[in-house]
Amino acid sequence: MEGVTCQRSHSLIHSNLTEQLYIIPMSKDLLTDTATTTGTPASKPTLKPALWAAIRKGLKSRCPDCGKGKLYRAYLKPVATCSECGHEWENVRADDGPAWATMLIVGHLIGPIAVAMILNPVMPLWASLIVLPLITFAMCLTLLPAIKGAFMAILWITDAPTS
Ligand SMILES: [Zn+2]
Repeated sequence: MEGVTCQRSHSLIHSNLTEQLYIIPMSKDLLTDTATTTGTPASKPTLKPALWAAIRKGLKSRCPDCGKGKLYRAYLKPVATCSECGHEWENVRADDGPAWATMLIVGHLIGPIAVAMILNPVMPLWASLIVLPLITFAMCLTLLPAIKGAFMAILWITDAPTS
């Protein structure tokens, strides 16, 4: 009887020690509220910036990791690796998300303007049919790289699976 009690208490102590050993490395994460650590057990953990910091860098078409290197080598073509920190961006694929978000934003801005121009014409209709598409096109071309940068930052920070 006594031996069974001793075995149970020993196993409780052992499990408590195991939990403590597990908690100690996690406490480092709690100290850095603006950064998170990730990584597989086989690889070295990497320090990531906070989500909003990475999004801000991506909106400027800069590397969401360091914020210094360029994110694109062409208009929307991501660089293979960041020239400043060496982070790989070629495998972070945003697919159609940035185009969808760009159309959502531009549509909600241009739609009311188009309705207002129809109800209170400030220029002839033929001029509106030329000006509005040009403004829409310019807004899409301007917003798309910034929004793609933000999407890439979100995908990277959240470790979202990409196609
Ligand atoms: Zn970088």
